[in-house]
Amino acid sequence: MQEIKFNGNQSDFYIDLRKRVNEYFKDTNKEKTGDYRIIVKALFFSISFITSYILLVFVDMPVWLSIPLCVYAGIITAGIGFNMMHDGSHGSFSQNKSLNKMAELSLNFLGCSSFFWNVKHVVVHHTYTNIDGMDDDIGNEPMLRLCETQKRYAFHALQQYYFVFIYGLLYLGWIFLLDFIKYFSRKVGNKDNIHINASTHVGFWSTKVIYSLLFVALPIWQLGFVKFITGYSVYMFVTGITISLVFQLAHCVENMAFDHPMKDGKIANDWATHQVATTSNFATQSKLVSFFTGGLNFQIEHHLFPKISHVHYPEISKIVKNVCAKHGISYFEQKTLLNAIVSHVKHLKEMGKK
Ligand SMILES: [Zn+2]
Repeated sequence: MQEIKFNGNQSDFYIDLRKRVNEYFKDTNKEKTGDYRIIVKALFFSISFITSYILLVFVDMPVWLSIPLCVYAGIITAGIGFNMMHDGSHGSFSQNKSLNKMAELSLNFLGCSSFFWNVKHVVVHHTYTNIDGMDDDIGNEPMLRLCETQKRYAFHALQQYYFVFIYGLLYLGWIFLLDFIKYFSRKVGNKDNIHINASTHVGFWSTKVIYSLLFVALPIWQLGFVKFITGYSVYMFVTGITISLVFQLAHCVENMAFDHPMKDGKIANDWATHQVATTSNFATQSKLVSFFTGGLNFQIEHHLFPKISHVHYPEISKIVKNVCAKHGISYFEQKTLLNAIVSHVKHLKEMGKK
């Protein structure tokens, strides 16, 4: 495989930006990892999830109550991913390594392999953002066409409508299909021949077995198959659509660059400029969106500083905006969540056209 290189990793922009951000942490005497705020959030999401699980599996309740609770559990599950697992996988949840690992392993508890998430997200997506054929996040072919270099089929003309179903199936597919494809092919995005050691094999299979027992077998035994499949479908659909939307709203909206390497394997921009050109913020003024998405609405700051916890992004974003303006780099953001969703739909419509 050809080696892909950015046009420099130490641009004036990135050097300037890092210096200003480091000064901020020095001046305010803050750690770059999460503080008490992330612990409060982790407690909120964990307690909400466990309570919902116990109520849904062990308490016989009417449908009008159980369905909204399944929706709530789906939103909370996505919230655990955004607020605990994501920071944990980047090593920014806490300075305490065990706490960090626990946050990361919340993903295994929810049925997915944190090992393959690390390769897919922390390594591939964060390095080769929006590069077709490398970034697994935009590799949803043939179901969706997310950039111009991908092959277009006639049914893509309708992708701005049916994407909802694809996103809704993502979490289910992640647990029971996509992880297994990665496991058996040893391939994620542009990484192949991935080495899997003994403890990762054990971790992978125990994750799948324990999840299936706790979230499929036990609920069927307690509730019966019909009640289980109804509630589980709602729960999985809500989780899938929430996770997919939050990640897609940051990279697959209008104005985003979708790059591809030149013949010599070089990417036109330096790494930091590439990150800003391929990433968009949304609803940064909304405290609710910022709380729930674990700072993924400050995605530009996250891509430039993935090892800094999301609790610091609102402050860091002021610095990033200033430095971008100083170096003439466009900084994209959608004012509200609705604006971002509309922009994503427009992008899908554009990519579906002939
Ligand atoms: Zn990330």
